Amino acid sequence: MESGGTTLEHGALNITSSPNTQPHMRYEDALWNAVCTRLRVVLGEDVYRSWLKPIQLDMIDDDCARLSLPTRFIRDWVHNHYSSALIDALSQEDERIRSIDLIIQARPNNDAASALTPAPVALEVITPEADAAPDMGASLDPRYTFDRFVVGKPNELAYAAAKRIADSSEALVGCNPLFLYGGVGLGKTHLMHAIAWHVRLHHPQRRVVYLSAEQFMYQFIKALQSRDTLAFKEQFRSVDVLMVDDVQFISGKDSTQEEFFHTFNALVEQNKQLVISADRSPTDLSGIEERIRSRLAWGLVADIHTTSFELRYGILESKVAQQSITVPRDVLEFLARRITSNVRELEGALTRVVAQADMLGMPVTLEGTQILLQDLLRSCDRRVSIEDIQKFVADYYRVKVSDMFSPRRSVSVARPRQVAMYLSKILTDKSLPEIGRKFGGKDHTTVMHAVKRITDFIHNDPELREDVERIQRMMGA
Ligand code: ADP
Ligand code: MG
Repeated sequence: MESGGTTLEHGALNITSSPNTQPHMRYEDALWNAVCTRLRVVLGEDVYRSWLKPIQLDMIDDDCARLSLPTRFIRDWVHNHYSSALIDALSQEDERIRSIDLIIQARPNNDAASALTPAPVALEVITPEADAAPDMGASLDPRYTFDRFVVGKPNELAYAAAKRIADSSEALVGCNPLFLYGGVGLGKTHLMHAIAWHVRLHHPQRRVVYLSAEQFMYQFIKALQSRDTLAFKEQFRSVDVLMVDDVQFISGKDSTQEEFFHTFNALVEQNKQLVISADRSPTDLSGIEERIRSRLAWGLVADIHTTSFELRYGILESKVAQQSITVPRDVLEFLARRITSNVRELEGALTRVVAQADMLGMPVTLEGTQILLQDLLRSCDRRVSIEDIQKFVADYYRVKVSDMFSPRRSVSVARPRQVAMYLSKILTDKSLPEIGRKFGGKDHTTVMHAVKRITDFIHNDPELREDVERIQRMMGA
């Protein structure tokens, strides 16, 4: 790799010959400046400022320029939209360059406005004694901080608990472990990263390690193989806050499960703060021994509920403010009403809408949004036809589709019918009376009752909950 800023005179760029260029500037930086000048002209000032300014040219390796970008979001965006413009401009300035490699690398930000956000200096959560704890942590996303987490009814308990843990200078008795659970894309990982950032900023002496359950298992199995589980436990001894994400993936792997949770217990006994997440509650973690499940629920169990319209709208508003873009209210409202599955999809939709407007150089409008998201919404609509729901539910419970419309009250048909009504309510935007009509002219109170019954069951009866989830998956919903 070239370095030092004194040697190279490739392509059109000729830094060293000019006495006016800063003498200590790296070749890569000077090259990148020249590339930026080109790109500002080609792509415009806005695109440059939003997407290209945060990029740094790290090195040139053969014919490949390695560019680092601060976040995954920007990386993906740049990759999808500006790859070829970047290669063009780079190769015009330095003819060796034929390709680019985009990597995520958070950098300290001198911007005073960002002083409130933990400085994303390093991606690894690994600690000063990296030798003692190699590969222990996983990357932290610099965007996943508390100030970017929008709090609403569905997530207020989880947020409050996470915040208390992050603020504390020791393990919190009532919250150890903190068990966060909720469906995909509802902010579990975001909250865990936020704890890590916060502790690093406010309690730098506390060691925080965040990792996925698979990583935890992987290291544990490695330790088992090398007959060194003691060293494994030892590794975590110097950690003050240990966070393990998505522990549902541990269930079922019997032989290691036992040892794994012994280790886990030992950590709690050593007064380490543990934060665990899963996509379901401790009681619903199938394939994990009862003893262990109840142990997991010993501290505080905080459920993140599915989002409400208000929360979705709030999240969109905050995303828009963060990116300093203008999106009309009706578009935000439309997105918040129609994209209900999870926050990740909601963000994805907003990104698409903004990108399209940006590309066309036009303002974001409701019409444009509806057209752009047609496919996405159509597939939502398709998966929410009441007829489909009736068919899938009947199939699943091996009853006749006509039983869905019949007045029969025996549990064997009434329960499936209630499940179908419930799914019609949550997966379509049909009103209760409309749903009632599709079920053989039932009254809206019957539908309401069914929805309530099934909602209760879902909270109290893991088996029925499984059934409902399976049906939803079968429908691709
Ligand atoms: P999970 O781990 O529960 O599957 P994530 O934490 O990965 O979900 O969240 C998915 C995406 O949604 C992330 O980009 C996250 O920042 C965003 N997100 C989720 N909940 C919120 C919230 N309450 N406020 C702001 N962003 C959120
Ligand atoms: Mg997650």
